[in-house]
Amino acid sequence: MMLTTNPFDDDKLHEECAIFGIRGTKDAAAHTVLGLHAQQHRGQEATGIVSTDGDEFKVHRAMGHVGDVFGKPQVMETLEGIAAIGHNRYSTTGESGLRNVQPIYADFEFGGLALAHNGNLTNALQLRKELVHRGSIFQSTTDTEVIVHLLATSRGPVTERLITALRLVEGAYSLVLLTKRKLIGVRDPRGVRPLVLGKLGDAYIFASESVALDIIGAEKVRDVEPGEMITIDENGINSQFPFNRQEKRFCIFEYVYFARPDSVLENKSVYEARKRIGEELARENPVEADVVVPIPDSGVPSAVGYAQESGIPFEYGIIRNHYVGRTFIEPTDEIRHLGVKLKHNANRHYIEGKRVILVDDSIVRGTTSRKIVEMVREAGATEVHMRITSPPTAHSCYYGVDTPERQSLLAAQHNIKEMCKLIGADSLGFVSIDGLYRAMGEANRDKEHPQYCDACFTGDYPIENVDANSGDSAKLTLLREQVR
Ligand code: SF4
Repeated sequence: MMLTTNPFDDDKLHEECAIFGIRGTKDAAAHTVLGLHAQQHRGQEATGIVSTDGDEFKVHRAMGHVGDVFGKPQVMETLEGIAAIGHNRYSTTGESGLRNVQPIYADFEFGGLALAHNGNLTNALQLRKELVHRGSIFQSTTDTEVIVHLLATSRGPVTERLITALRLVEGAYSLVLLTKRKLIGVRDPRGVRPLVLGKLGDAYIFASESVALDIIGAEKVRDVEPGEMITIDENGINSQFPFNRQEKRFCIFEYVYFARPDSVLENKSVYEARKRIGEELARENPVEADVVVPIPDSGVPSAVGYAQESGIPFEYGIIRNHYVGRTFIEPTDEIRHLGVKLKHNANRHYIEGKRVILVDDSIVRGTTSRKIVEMVREAGATEVHMRITSPPTAHSCYYGVDTPERQSLLAAQHNIKEMCKLIGADSLGFVSIDGLYRAMGEANRDKEHPQYCDACFTGDYPIENVDANSGDSAKLTLLREQVR
């Protein structure tokens, strides 16, 4: 079960997780703190770091933001070492709570190992049941722990065990792993979640997003390829592709919403992609209006694009309060009623008497959109036109993004006209799926072989959700054969 800690965020798609790993510097943990801090937007519930000096492992994990958890010198003094990995968590599987905070650490016959995961495994429940049946004792309720138990039941050196384990799992994963001697980064064969490789002096780095490299002054070497496993140790860097090659299906929603705009993913600037989506949106959904207003933060670059393409002035007509914490507010009913206003406030001067185009990234349940439209009308807008920088979100994500059940998604239940009425706007327009692909630099979406994962818009899932389907999967049979 998933708990939401911020009552004002429950209508957004939640970020997934961030991972970071570094080997080859004496300040490994301090660099990891910075790398996690730059990726705070991907998970704000909990954070953790495991470091090693080549002899021992040090672990610190806690609920809360990176700055709060690692801002104390006495904590950092315990995390010495030349290598470290870290994780920011937003729970996508498993309940909230300290026992689910990553990196996971375990002792094996080959020594200690720490593991951090961004993504979601789609056959974790099935594998877990089988492992429990065989005597494994799970410490957490996360899908990631399945990998730890598969490592324990495999044979050989750690890289061979990891290959054996990952051949048994289905789903989306970018992983960093740390042993006394090695730092390993690996990405699933579809490359659904991001993972970049960087370098700082003699140190190598893995991170979910390139902004984590920028903050420590590291250079981006390249993206880790889908299905690639990179091992870094005293012998240098080694790359291998141990899994069956599959078509790449990177998450297109990283560009729309999740990633930071100053990140470069798969050699594409997120800011540039968002701006181009705004341009497509303006071409596909024109309307006469006086001002283009982003719903901050992710709507900002797209609103710039919309304004430039349409020739309608851009203004910050809504201001975001960045200091609404996720956990520290214990709302009373009255405060809860204020809802969206705690996070967003209308900048009345730029709205009053105006026909306003609002630009947002998505509509999930529709409750936030309705409140924002209401707030903009209360501030004196004469018309409110909502423009959305993704196609309607009509399907749930199984690959590491926390979406509600399908029946709770507004677009799964209503057509655009009905949605418009429900959120109280004068008009509502979404970028088309082909418009989204054009913004990515493609001619259109290849229907036979889509260039990205876009399942939450199209229902075209690139990886089977094994746990949702009945019956034993081929990988479960493989696991049974391996441990027989
Ligand atoms: Fe991204 Fe949507 Fe695919 Fe999930 S279903 S990985 S959010 S594109």
